Amino acid sequence: MDVDKLIVSIGRVANTIGLAPETVGLKLDERGAIVVDDECKTNLPNVWAIGDVVRGPMLAHKAEEEGVAVAERIAGQHGHVNFNTIPWVIYTNPEIAWVGQTEEQLKAAGRAYKAGTFPFMANGRARVGRHHRHGENAGRCCNR
Ligand SMILES: Cc1cc2nc3c(=O)[nH]c(=O)nc-3n(C[C@H](O)[C@H](O)[C@H](O)COP(=O)(O)OP(=O)(O)OC[C@H]3O[C@@H](n4cnc5c(N)ncnc54)[C@H](O)[C@@H]3O)c2cc1C
Repeated sequence: MDVDKLIVSIGRVANTIGLAPETVGLKLDERGAIVVDDECKTNLPNVWAIGDVVRGPMLAHKAEEEGVAVAERIAGQHGHVNFNTIPWVIYTNPEIAWVGQTEEQLKAAGRAYKAGTFPFMANGRARVGRHHRHGENAGRCCNR
């Protein structure tokens, strides 16, 4: 990838400091995240955990999906979260977003797939972004 500048911002961790898990025997992993099973159950009976404090991507919609699923399970229903369909985005300009498996993952899994491409310059938002990345109007928006 050719870029002018690249910021790598990594290292967010579960905010479990001060939770005193040892006082109740709550299990954390080596990175401080609360250990849960596929259904978000902790090792303690009737204690569930969701979102950034458990495994998986630290994204708001993932936390929300888990919260809904746990509420459904507590209510005796069959809550489900499909971790393979969580959308991701990187806030570059323009943004990069993706969902599902990558071409490399499909190749590695030996699964048949169809690859498609779409010219970015056919996208109105991309055209506007191109005009304003450089020069005196850089960063400004317009309706041209
Ligand atoms: C700068 C930034 C930008 C982000 N942008 C995006 C984005 O664009 N899209 C996206 O999907 N996600 C984004 N995220 C991630 C998103 O905010 C989190 O994934 C999401 O908020 C996780 O929800 P949560 O309920 O697990 O945790 P939180 O939203 O952090 O909620 C946890 C709550 O628990 C409280 N709490 C903590 N400890 C205790 C305690 N001991 N006792 C009682 N209460 C406690 C906290 O005060 C907080 O209110 C961003 C995060 C950051 C930091």
